[in-house]
Amino acid sequence: MRLRADDGALSILANKFDMKIHEYQGKDILRQFGVATPRGIACFSVDEAVAAAQQLGGSVWVVKAQIHAGGRGKGGGVKVAKSPDEVRQYAQQILGMHLVTHQTGLEGQLVRRLLIEEGAAIVKEFYVGMVVDRASQRVALLASSEGGMEIEEVAKHSPEKIHTVRIDPVAGLADSDAAQVARNIGIPDAANADAVKVLQGLYRAFVEKDAMLAEINPLVLTADNRVLALDAKFNFDSNALYRHPEIVALRDLDEEDPAEIEASKFDLSYISLDGDIGCLVNGAGLAMATMDIIKLYGGNPANFLDVGGGATKEKVTEAFKLMLKNPHLKAILVNIFGGIMKCDVIAEGVVAAAREVSLNVPLVVRLEGTNVDLGKKILAESGLPIISGNDMADAAQKVVAAAKG
Ligand code: ADP
Ligand code: MG
Repeated sequence: MRLRADDGALSILANKFDMKIHEYQGKDILRQFGVATPRGIACFSVDEAVAAAQQLGGSVWVVKAQIHAGGRGKGGGVKVAKSPDEVRQYAQQILGMHLVTHQTGLEGQLVRRLLIEEGAAIVKEFYVGMVVDRASQRVALLASSEGGMEIEEVAKHSPEKIHTVRIDPVAGLADSDAAQVARNIGIPDAANADAVKVLQGLYRAFVEKDAMLAEINPLVLTADNRVLALDAKFNFDSNALYRHPEIVALRDLDEEDPAEIEASKFDLSYISLDGDIGCLVNGAGLAMATMDIIKLYGGNPANFLDVGGGATKEKVTEAFKLMLKNPHLKAILVNIFGGIMKCDVIAEGVVAAAREVSLNVPLVVRLEGTNVDLGKKILAESGLPIISGNDMADAAQKVVAAAKG
């Protein structure tokens, strides 16, 4: 979760650029920092899943889909099995399914990996998480008695149930603060020392691994008063990955957006978003401003796309192709500032690219800069139904209307 309530371009993109890992990988990290978790084994096939259950022993197992999205339980991706036969049955059901959760989009995410884990005897579920709080320039610990639920929902409906500690970077998470948070969320005294260990371990993992977000939801109290992490979510700062080869090694390309991988081949900075207005812009700052102004006028960007300095015909063509692969796309806004590259050259590129891909959604183009009048003339005389935007506000309003109409 984010601490800031706004969802402007900067905060949306900051989260998108973070590197994510699977739950079982997150739990491996937690264990390295002294946080207790159920024992579990990651599996890639049904037979492996059954063998894993036998190896773990016991009489209750949990079969858990491993995808880079939360809400798996509600979507049918987490099942409790009471026999090896049930493990087989659930593994068959979950492996290969397109798991749809509130974080996956309607198509869902194909499940290729499972975590088979021993079942915990849950007495109560809690939430604990850490996030970089830009406002206080500290790591904030958030904890709540309302475990298992989405923390965003708790924040909206009962914010008083979220306890926050902004951690002093020099002193770290003090024993007394951790113990108080544990009491505040209702962890009994008998388990307080365990809870302190979890919170301090989570904080050390967060700092040492350069995380941007780390969540244990739920953290549970068991019948024998142990405190266990039943789920683990980590997002890592991509700018710090150079010093964490062990984290980079956990990358799962299957979980990444194929459009984003494709874009990187053409040197385009592309991030898929869940709106319906494609944006093609030169410069990251202008691209973010374009997203924000589309939102301001009631629209939703389908992507962030920075074509960089050279808005050449080839790049614009690849960019159009990428955007057109998105089934939700309703309109495209091209917003280019022609500085080093002149507007007439860019206009010719846009026209040629639109022809090559037989563009079939409304296209709004806003050009500014050198030779802008010539550029606009080329667009107007192209014979293509290109809508010209006079400035950013005008172009944004036109593309929002085009997407709705
Ligand atoms: P998600 O957050 O993606 O739905 P979780 O890992 O939080 O997935 O699992 C969902 C729910 O399933 C948990 O809130 C918990 O109630 C239950 N659960 C998960 N793992 C176990 C386990 N090892 N033992 C018992 N129950 C579990
Ligand atoms: Mg969870």
